[in-house]
Formats: sequence, structure tokens, C-alpha cells
Amino acid sequence: MKLTFENRKALVTGAGRGIGKAIAEELARQGVHVICVSQNPASCGAAAEAIQASGGSAEAQAVDVSDSAAVQAAADSLLKEHGTIDILVNNAGITRDTLVMRMKDEEWDAVIRTNLNSCFYWSRALMQSMARKRWGRVINISSVIGLMGNAGQANYAAAKAGIFGLTKSLAREFSKRNITVNAVAPGFIKTDMTEVLNEEVTQAILQQIPLKRLGDVADISNIVAFLASEESGYITGQTFTVDGGMVM
Ligand code: NAP
Repeated sequence: MKLTFENRKALVTGAGRGIGKAIAEELARQGVHVICVSQNPASCGAAAEAIQASGGSAEAQAVDVSDSAAVQAAADSLLKEHGTIDILVNNAGITRDTLVMRMKDEEWDAVIRTNLNSCFYWSRALMQSMARKRWGRVINISSVIGLMGNAGQANYAAAKAGIFGLTKSLAREFSKRNITVNAVAPGFIKTDMTEVLNEEVTQAILQQIPLKRLGDVADISNIVAFLASEESGYITGQTFTVDGGMVM
């Protein structure tokens, strides 16, 4: 199926590396102008330059997505320049893994702020402009850990599970404005985030994956492109698990 995008502009958080970078590249390949957001200016800058070098349209914006005021200021200036941002992909995320008994407040707060609060900040800042245009797509990147829980990841699991409630509520609030809001829950995908896992842990994870491989970033960017396109217009409030069959 050929996907349709009618002069759309997208903002992708965490676009400097990994899954977010692949999503930004795929949307740009589909003819979408992409605003690549990451924390480090060098990282989103390089992602935007790579897209431009391959003939796509992109720009970079360094923003700490866990900072409410910084997100609002960046969104205001982007909306002034672009009018509307039609597609929002909330992908930025971090882990601070440790058992609950040892978890510090800062480890809990950093993960909730970066993985969950950020989705609220960007949605609040950008969805009004989508509502005015009576068209919009929001895609929130959660995780299978939000569905299953995981020892050593209570903060991450809570943030990722919170994304499901936020997604369904936004889907209901904005349905009258022809805006769809969906979540994607990746399983284990080959990126910097999973690079840190040792061989023993990786083998244990593979035992739980019926398709017997870790996912590629393209496994996620493909479904995000579909959910961002015209063709997905009758799907909202859903979670799509992309995990090689880990959670059934
Ligand atoms: P990654 O390779 O570690 O990249 C994370 C990206 O998020 C980077 O571009 C980073 O910016 C950005 N970021 C982190 N904190 C930020 C902040 N405060 N403000 C702005 N940007 C920030 O991660 P990934 O593996 O691609 O994961 C992407 C998303 O998928 C995350 O939400 C993750 O939880 C989720 N996920 C991943 C997996 C997996 O197996 N990899 C599985 C399930 C879900 P810089 O480049 O500037 O550092």
C-alpha cells in the first residue's frame, strides 16, 4: 500500500538516535517535513542533516522534553514559524533501572518526567493547532514493559503504562476534531538502549520471543508511518504491540 501524506509537518522527539531517528527518516522519505527533537543539539542536528543529504526536508531543535516550560517555548516558536504541526511522535525516552528498594526519588522522577510528562507537554502544546485544522495524528511510543511490568524497571513500566491512559484520553478528547491518537509498544529493538544488555540477558530475552530475533528500528518506523498517514484515519485510542510475539 502506498501511504498518503498531504503536505504534512511532523515533530519527532528523541529523533537523534535509534527508533526516533528511523521514524524521522521514514516520514521524510514519505515527503513529510520533519522537526527532529533531541536533548543534545549535535544528535538532532546530525539526524536532520542526514535527512537533508538524502533529499528529504528536515530541521533540528534541541529541547529537554522533560522541561515543561522549554517544551512550551519551543512549540510556540515552531507554531509561529510553521502554522501547524500535523503529526506528533512522542518517542524520547530513558531508563534508570534498579530495584524499587534501591530506587532514588531522582531516578523515579527523571524517568516519569522524560517518558510520560513529555507526552503530555507536547500534546498540550501542539494539539490545539491540529484541532483548528481538523486533522492530526499523535503517536506515543510506549513499551511492552508498560504491558508486562519488569523487575528493576518500576519507574519505566509506570511511565510506559501511563502512556496508555494518556493515549486513550487524548483520543476521546480530540476525536471530534478528526485527530487520532495511538500508542506503539515495541518489544526489544536493536538500539543504544538495548546495546547495554549483556549476552546472557540477550539470550534470556530471545527465549521469550517467538520470532527469535530482536526487532529492527524499521519494524517500528513502518507502523508509525502508517499511523501517521491518511490511510489510518479510522484507528484511534489503540496500542499496537510490535515485539516478535513476546506478549500475546
Ligand atoms: P535511544 O537510542 O536511547 O535514543 C533516545 C533518544 O531520546 C535520543 O535521541 C535522546 O536524545 C532522546 N532523549 C532522551 N532524553 C531526552 C530529553 N530529556 N529531551 C529530549 N530528548 C531526549 O532510545 P531508543 O531505544 O531509540 O528508544 C526510543 C523510544 O522507544 C523510547 O521511548 C524507549 O523507551 C522506547 N522503547 C525502546 C525499546 C528498545 O528496545 N530500544 C523497546 C521498547 C520501547 P540525544 O540523542 O540528544 O541523547
